[in-house]
Amino acid sequence: MSSTQDLDYPQILFQYNNGFLVSKIMFTACELGVFDLLLESEGPLSSDAIAERLGTSASGMERLLDACVGLKLLGVEMKSEGAFYRNTELSNLYLTKSSPKSQYHNLMYYSKTIYLCWHYLTDAVRDGKNQYERAFGVSSKDLFGALYRSEEEMIKFMYGLNAIWSICGRDVIAAFDLSAFTVIYDLGGCAGGLAQECISLYPNSTVTIYDLPKVVQVAKERFVPPEERRITFHEGDFFKDPIPEADLYILARILHDWADDKCMQLLAKIHKASKPGGGVLLVETLLNEDKTGPIETQLYSMNMLVQAEGKERTPSQYSKLLTAAGFREIQVKKTGKLYDAILGRK
Ligand code: SAM
Repeated sequence: MSSTQDLDYPQILFQYNNGFLVSKIMFTACELGVFDLLLESEGPLSSDAIAERLGTSASGMERLLDACVGLKLLGVEMKSEGAFYRNTELSNLYLTKSSPKSQYHNLMYYSKTIYLCWHYLTDAVRDGKNQYERAFGVSSKDLFGALYRSEEEMIKFMYGLNAIWSICGRDVIAAFDLSAFTVIYDLGGCAGGLAQECISLYPNSTVTIYDLPKVVQVAKERFVPPEERRITFHEGDFFKDPIPEADLYILARILHDWADDKCMQLLAKIHKASKPGGGVLLVETLLNEDKTGPIETQLYSMNMLVQAEGKERTPSQYSKLLTAAGFREIQVKKTGKLYDAILGRK
């Protein structure tokens, strides 16, 4: 072992140790509205001006802003009157609420919900199951009953999950040529971010968002404009209720919620409903076959442990599930972004 490698160890150790401090600094600056204020302001602002406008302590705000500079979420300019802060390109693009690519709601879901579940990670590893009872005092018998324990939580979940499709949606929908599929069902389609990408890329397609009734209601009211005639809705429980016939079924971040037996149950039902020649498109983040990463996917798989009943999987694990349900001609496309695509045919 070389001494250079030895020298790197403490750096890696401290970086990992401080990981959650970094997350919380970014979440807090977002929550307080630092990036929104700096976007709206005519020019850079002093720490005192930001503290006053956002109603915080001057001492707390100065330290928060300096840490954001260290993290390259803010830039700073030293003038004779003191330090003046401005957004970086990254924060303007992703951390302001008004940006079309805003991740604000995703970050808030992490900060207010996922962070609390992760407090019980050790228990989750010991128990091998999610931690809703410890974290929120609700039964986890019905997974989405626990996730949607209040209307407010459900809406936060919908906004949080939808945000990523402004970054990755086009890549997963364009991973395969889906133009031959015109009648598309997005099962567990939630707020419709992917449905919107789909109709915008494939002009002959119509997409039906199939989801639990209360999710569909909110999707209609808040997310999908009523004039969008190519997106329709279907209220149902995909485990219990019929799934209508379609050319293509999209399952985006659905199978990762569930254990293999539930995935098999759902895929077999879809196979039965599908037209001959029809397809199923899985949109998931994929683990390497040799267990070497990607680290983001490994972290998400841990998150599935604390928050759901499933896990992230490798392409061969998904192929096995699809094959067992009767699908063939399975193709895997890595997009190079966070989410990848797998297409199977009946
Ligand atoms: N596909 C969306 C995306 O990737 O942004 C949402 C994925 S989210 C992890 C899982 C979705 O499945 C939620 O919208 C949830 O309401 C829906 N869902 C869960 N159980 C369901 C069921 N039994 N029937 C229909 N939809 C269900």
